[in-house]
Amino acid sequence: MIKNHYHTIIIGAGPAGLACALTLLQQGVDDLLVAEKFTFPRDKCCAGYITRKTEKEYRRFGLDPADCGYSLIKDFRLYFKRKQRQKINNKFLFTSREINRVALDDAFFRLAKARGVCIAENMPITGHDPETNTVILGKTYRIGYDNLVFADGTMGFGSACQRVKRRNLAMQLLFPSDRPDGIEIHFGITGRGYCWVSTFNGVTNVGMTDEYREAKDYKSLFAGFLKDLGLDAELSGLYAAFTPIGVRTPVIGKNIFFVGDALGACDPFTLSGVRNGLASGEKAALAIAAADPRILERYARALRVKFFLIRLLMNLFYIPWIRWLVFNVGCRFLSGAVTFFFNRFLNKK
Ligand SMILES: Cc1cc2nc3c(=O)[nH]c(=O)nc-3n(C[C@H](O)[C@H](O)[C@H](O)COP(=O)(O)OP(=O)(O)OC[C@H]3O[C@@H](n4cnc5c(N)ncnc54)[C@H](O)[C@@H]3O)c2cc1C
Repeated sequence: MIKNHYHTIIIGAGPAGLACALTLLQQGVDDLLVAEKFTFPRDKCCAGYITRKTEKEYRRFGLDPADCGYSLIKDFRLYFKRKQRQKINNKFLFTSREINRVALDDAFFRLAKARGVCIAENMPITGHDPETNTVILGKTYRIGYDNLVFADGTMGFGSACQRVKRRNLAMQLLFPSDRPDGIEIHFGITGRGYCWVSTFNGVTNVGMTDEYREAKDYKSLFAGFLKDLGLDAELSGLYAAFTPIGVRTPVIGKNIFFVGDALGACDPFTLSGVRNGLASGEKAALAIAAADPRILERYARALRVKFFLIRLLMNLFYIPWIRWLVFNVGCRFLSGAVTFFFNRFLNKK
């Protein structure tokens, strides 16, 4: 039964929205509603990789990703312009059996429900009036709120309130295959992004990311990459979604909050967004519980600095001669340092 007013309404039941809801409950705020446009388990265009640190974050919320079939695939290979440059013994990146996030998101959803979070499935937000502090859910319900949290992703309803429009495109295709288990990361296929080929448990996930340009024919680029790999997969199951570039305004007014991809809390280089989704959801909840928006604003400021540095690194990395040096000199003569960087630096993300 949906009420006509809540202390907090959260739009979206992804990691960011549910982390916010669970933290609010911990803080003693239980007059809350999570509105989700799909029914769980819902499909999600995401490779579902999580780092050791993200795994710990989930455990803090009471969910062990190992129970959703997450484990390490040790064989990690770096490619540049279709040639293998380095093999790494992966110690930081965990993968689900299906190489997607459906089971993990569903388990988090069930945990939140079991803890007493009120979640309305199949209930998209279709209207918002900040003047009267009301949202319209589905076709019928006009509901009032004291606080509203947009956790509805890069291109969700909340994105209309934000000015930042740059974004990354990420595509992926999953299919059964008999390739050996392993993760391949390919650079030099797209302009400012990378491709991946991950196989685990008889499933292969091929993905491609790039800074989005409207004029570019990504489907042909993807088909060409598959062909180069010698993979003859049906393209009808190809999924695509956007991830944000740049941290957006965290709080509008004093009571409209943005978390996860809706905040832009997704690494612009690796596109890893789950951990920042959990963290930003938690910060928004703390800000709401303490009636102090500065808690989320401070987090967003720190993230902006971090992403600025990452983009600086990225800009350096995408200078052609530097990339050439990384793969032809670094991977060949300093492979120990490259391995260390992968397993130590990325582990912290
Ligand atoms: C192809 C691809 C691969 C990726 N791989 C990885 C990876 O391996 N590891 C990683 O960490 N990150 C990865 N990411 C990024 C990651 O998916 C996002 O950063 C993460 O999902 C952000 O979580 P969120 O909770 O903010 O948003 P989401 O998980 O997108 O959740 C938003 C929720 O809001 C709901 N919603 C949207 N609009 C409405 C509405 N109007 N009303 C109600 N509900 C609504 C949606 O249905 C959804 O459930 C990948 C992204 C892509 C596109």
